[in-house]
Amino acid sequence: MDDCVFCKIASKQIPCFSLYEDDDVIAFLDIAPATKKGGHTLVIPKKHYESITEVPDELLAKIMAVVKKITNAILKDADGVNVLQNNGKAAGQFVKHIHFHIVPRYNDDKIGITWECEKYDGGEIEKEHEKLKKLLEECLLKP
Ligand code: 5GP
Ligand code: ZN
Repeated sequence: MDDCVFCKIASKQIPCFSLYEDDDVIAFLDIAPATKKGGHTLVIPKKHYESITEVPDELLAKIMAVVKKITNAILKDADGVNVLQNNGKAAGQFVKHIHFHIVPRYNDDKIGITWECEKYDGGEIEKEHEKLKKLLEECLLKP
């Protein structure tokens, strides 16, 4: 996509601090990391897809294999890792080219990736369960 910053990184029109690259996948340091320590990394398919729902399963598996390798490397020198993948504006997706964040975590860090939990009232979890099972059935019927 002409206007996509990650397509430009994948095609080398914009430089990046690359960590891994093959025909389909590239991983590089996030320019504005959650923490300067440890190497907050982004893993993307070179081909443009906006969200996880669009990426072919085989390619997704290749991306995840790279996510796993880089997570292993980061964990050599960090206490933990968050793997994050935002879909849609409401979920905090700013770059509309699918990417996985690998965020190094430290016992004493100030990164906030938590939420205040809600509690289901009577019957609510059953209702959500039924609704989602139906939606999933529809999705499973499609290729
Ligand atoms: P999102 O909020 O869309 O999940 O995250 C997009 C990420 O891409 C942000 O963490 C941001 O710092 C990173 N980013 C945006 N533009 C560039 C860029 O030109 N180069 C690099 N390396 N990272 C970028
Ligand atoms: Zn793109």
